[in-house]
Amino acid sequence: MSFEQLPYKNIRIVLVNTTHPGNIGSAARAMKTMGLSSLYLVDPVDFPSGEARALSSGATDLLENATVVSSLREAIADCELVVGASARVRGISLSLTDPRDTARDVVAEAKNGAKVALVFGREDRGLTNEELRLCHRQVHIPSVAEFSSLNLAASVQVLCYEMRMEALVQEGESKVPEVREYAPVSSEQMEGYYSHLRETLEGVGFFKSCNPDKIMAKLRRLYARSRPNAVEYNILRGILSETQVALRNLRK
Ligand code: SAH
Repeated sequence: MSFEQLPYKNIRIVLVNTTHPGNIGSAARAMKTMGLSSLYLVDPVDFPSGEARALSSGATDLLENATVVSSLREAIADCELVVGASARVRGISLSLTDPRDTARDVVAEAKNGAKVALVFGREDRGLTNEELRLCHRQVHIPSVAEFSSLNLAASVQVLCYEMRMEALVQEGESKVPEVREYAPVSSEQMEGYYSHLRETLEGVGFFKSCNPDKIMAKLRRLYARSRPNAVEYNILRGILSETQVALRNLRK
């Protein structure tokens, strides 16, 4: 299953009564970078808005497709799991989880076909108690107690990031883009290299009173750790060949 498909369609980000349109744009951007696209806006103060578009940095499709409703109840009506994000942890009656545990459950439930909402509150005072009562649980980003409130879009980013990481792990996908790597060369080629290396080191008088077998064993261990690829191998062989040529020229 590819990342852009299910379970992402089942996960929605709900922003409640957002004051600053720029935060809506930044949240859309945060979502899109992590592969999420379903945005619900509950009674936004200023939307649609040029500032939201500007700060979405090209995530305008999410803004255009956003569902605008007048109450949280409407935004979550068809959801089976509703998680409220809250900067405050005191006086909370709901069970409280961290973003990673939340992401694990959310992605698992969404994969099973459940619709899930992650609900974010107002910039100045978060979610009301009544809104929190509509949630099944609360998620808190473990910020420091004396300065616990993240910017709205930053908190959306943290949650979306954790969900993407969780989905990548569940799908067994690589978490960083694949880089084209050359495969390490074969043992046979490395044996050829070790003979060449030994011959060259003997040629330059490197071993002196040392036991060549012991030195070679140590060098083999070094190369075995780095497992040279074809490009590196050719450079190493080239160095040896040029050393031998220089040596022959010196002796002439
Ligand atoms: N002063 C408000 C903070 C609102 S910040 C309050 O006390 O709740 C706007 C929204 O960002 C919050 O409602 C919440 O959804 C989210 N948010 C900010 N910091 C958060 C944190 N540490 N953990 C989880 N959500 C957070």
